[in-house]
Order: sequence, then structure tokens, then C-alpha cells
Amino acid sequence: MQDDLASLIRNTAARVRARDFMWAVGISAGVCAALIVAGLADWRLALAGWLAFMAALAVRYRFSSGRVWAAPVQRIIETELHAQEAELARLRMVQGVARALPEPLFILDADGQVEHANPAARDLVGLPEATGRHFAAVLRAPSVYEAAETVLSSGEPTSVEFTTLGGVERTCRAYIAPIDTAADKPEQSRPRALVFIRDLTTERRLEQMRADFIASASHELRTPLASVLGFIETLRGHAKDDPEAQEKFLSVMQAQAERMQRLVADLMSLSRIELNEHVPPRESVDLSDLASDVIESLAPLFESAGAIIDFTHEEGADTKIRADRDEVFQAIQNLIDNAVKYGGDPAMVKISVGHGAAPTPFSDGAPAHRAGDSAQQVAARLGVSVDDLVYVQVRDFGPGIERADLPRLTERFYRVNVERSRKSGGTGLGLAIVKHIVNRHKGGFQIESRLAGGAAFACHFRHAG
Ligand code: ADP
Repeated sequence: MQDDLASLIRNTAARVRARDFMWAVGISAGVCAALIVAGLADWRLALAGWLAFMAALAVRYRFSSGRVWAAPVQRIIETELHAQEAELARLRMVQGVARALPEPLFILDADGQVEHANPAARDLVGLPEATGRHFAAVLRAPSVYEAAETVLSSGEPTSVEFTTLGGVERTCRAYIAPIDTAADKPEQSRPRALVFIRDLTTERRLEQMRADFIASASHELRTPLASVLGFIETLRGHAKDDPEAQEKFLSVMQAQAERMQRLVADLMSLSRIELNEHVPPRESVDLSDLASDVIESLAPLFESAGAIIDFTHEEGADTKIRADRDEVFQAIQNLIDNAVKYGGDPAMVKISVGHGAAPTPFSDGAPAHRAGDSAQQVAARLGVSVDDLVYVQVRDFGPGIERADLPRLTERFYRVNVERSRKSGGTGLGLAIVKHIVNRHKGGFQIESRLAGGAAFACHFRHAG
């Protein structure tokens, strides 16, 4: 490129100088002829002078090479080219940054036309190409367009919140700022605006969930607390001298206090699990051994409830997973505890551990309902085959669960029958805790049920082998 440029300048300079030389030859010959004709010079003298002048010109031409002529011009052009290349690299970098940005970004010209829209911006508006179109026609949010117009005319940055129209409603905030493209030459600059959009939907949903959660937790605690306070008042008042009533009220107060204790314990478990949700569990735990430990620890409960337990697992099979032992212990315990509570009277509970997908509990063809992740979905998400999964399933043969309730069971404080849950010591957090534990283990949790056919709760984990 540089050699081409140098030879181009050299050739051009040579052509210009050859033409100048011809002109010099012609003009000096004409002057000599005029002097001779006018009798002002002797022709011999004039001819000698002309030849000497030509010789001097030829010598100058010979020793001043094209390179000398070309070098300064070439230097100027090269400096200019370097400056342009640097400018181009800067522009490419800015474009690359905009492209890599996961959040939508638009650049508008003075007329409100889209000059640039990064891929996230095109996704947001659902258009394959937005450049060249008017911003008002691209993003259907009049408040953002009006704000952009104000920014373009006033040069002052602003931000505006808006909701996107269409299928899924999203709450977003647009930050709009003027772009100064020629700070050193303000007279040449045409106003441009940068529109940067942040999706606040998840943030807002989380805020709402947190507020709902605090409201529900306070409500759950308020009821037993109010009952305890009421009984204290009665004990101090008209039951003061009635030992029989005192005994009765004290046992109710104890039950309420225990309920609050369970609630606080579950709330603390949930917040501990949430806190660690991003930390991958490291222990190597055999799911069969763990399930058998849980069953052993619950023996007194089975006895008092008269529950019948059936535990099946592949003898000698390796059912190791990477897990937090205490958490998975708690998950299995919550499921078995629920099966005993809600799985009929007396409950018949079948617990199985094995490889692959958990057995289908309702395989007779009659309709059953499902919620959560199947083994196939878990395997696909983990990028493994179903055979690489290990499961624990807890099945009961109780009244089952209505289809509409199934997807909501893992919500905090959701119960099908609040009275029933309270009577059996439930907090409404058991299945929410199971779901969070399974999530932390990158596994899947599925609930299957049929009315009058019982329910089956399965957790699938990746085999640690
Ligand atoms: P709780 O503390 O109320 O048991 P959970 O989160 O453990 O809370 O369960 C939520 C609700 O799901 C329960 O209140 C109950 O209505 C329903 N449920 C849970 N397990 C079963 C089951 N095995 N059979 C029928 N319903 C169940």
C-alpha cells in the first residue's frame, strides 16, 4: 500500500516535471527567437545561452529525483491515513461494545431516526432491522420518544419508565442522553441521542415477591401470637382460679408456641438455602443410604401415625450424587412427612431410589396431572442422558391433589386446605424448601397426582459418577 502510494506520487511528480520542462524549453526558445528577431541579441549568443539554460535544467532534473519530491507529500498523506485508521478502529470498538451489551441500546439522529440498534434492542422491539426507521415506529412507547425529542432539543439527559405493549408486559426504564460527536467543533455537531433500556420486570417481580413473603410470614406468625396473648389474658382474668381451664389453655398455648417455632425454623431453613443457592454442593452422598437414614429417623412418626412404609432401592447400585447432605436429608424428610400427613389414614408410603427416570405412578392410561420438571427435561437441561440421573420418589395412595393446585404447591405458604395443614403442624413451607434444595442441586422436582389415586413427588439429580 505504502509502496504503491510512493510510486504513484513519484510518477505523478515525474509527469508534472516533464511537462514543466517542455514548457521551459518552449518559452525560452521563444524568448531567444524574439531577441534575435528584434536584433537585440546575436543568434549565436542567444543559441549558446539557450543551450546553457537547457543543460542547467537537465542537470537539475537529473539530480532531483522523484523520491525527493514524493517524500513530503507521502508523509502528509500517511499521517492523514493513520489518523483515519485510528478513528475507524475507535468506531469499530464502540460498535463492538454496543453489540456485546446485553441491554438494548439505540442511537437516534437529530430527526429521531434510528442510526444504530444493537441486537438486544432489535430483540426488544422484535424487528430484524431497525436502522433507518423512525424511533416512534420502532419502540411503541410514546413517553420514551417524547423524552428523546426533549433530549435532542435541550441536550439534557433524562430517564423515563415505561411498560412494553404486546404479549408479555415488561416494565423498563429508558436512560436517554445526548451524544457529543464533535466536542471541539460545536458548529459542526448535529445532536444525537443515546437510548439505553434496562428491563426492570424481574427486579419488580422480586420486590413484589419479597413484600408478599414478608406479609405472609408476618400473618402466619401473628395468628398464633394473638392466640397466645389472648390465652395469657384469660389466664390472668377469669381463669385465674380455675386449674382445669389453666391446664387446657396452657396446652393450647404450647401448641401455638411450637407452631411459631416450626415456622421460624422453616423460615430460617429457606433463607439459608436461598443464601447458598449459587454455591454448588460438594459432598458425595449416596441417595439410597440417605433415604434409608431419613426413614430410620422418622420411625417414631410412622409408629404414632400408623403409617405403612415400603422402601425400594436397587441393591448394591451406585446412587451417589454431589450434594449437601443435610439439605437433601431435609427434602426427603419433608416429602415423607407430607405423605404421612396427607396420604390417607393410615398412610401407605412408597419410597424408591434408583437410576434413570422415576417410575411412572399412574401408568394405567387414566388421566393423571403433572407439574414441574420431568426426568427428560432435567437430563436435557444438564446435557446428559436420562440414564445419568438418580432419583428419589415418595408416593402415597391418599386422596390426591386437584389439577389446579399442583403447580402452586411449591409456592411459599400455599396449602390446599389451610385448616388441615395447620392441624397436622404444617407451615406451608415444606414443598417450597424442597424445590429450593433441588434447584440448588441443579436437579428437577416433579409432582404427579390423580384425584383418589394419591400423589408422587420425585427429585432427579445428576449421578456423581
Ligand atoms: P405444609 O406445611 O402445609 O404441609 P407443604 O409446602 O409441605 O406445606 O405442602 C403444601 C400443601 O401441599 C399442603 O398444605 C397440602 O395441601 C399439599 N400436599 C403436600 N403433600 C401432599 C400429599 N402427599 N398429598 C396431598 N396433598 C399434599
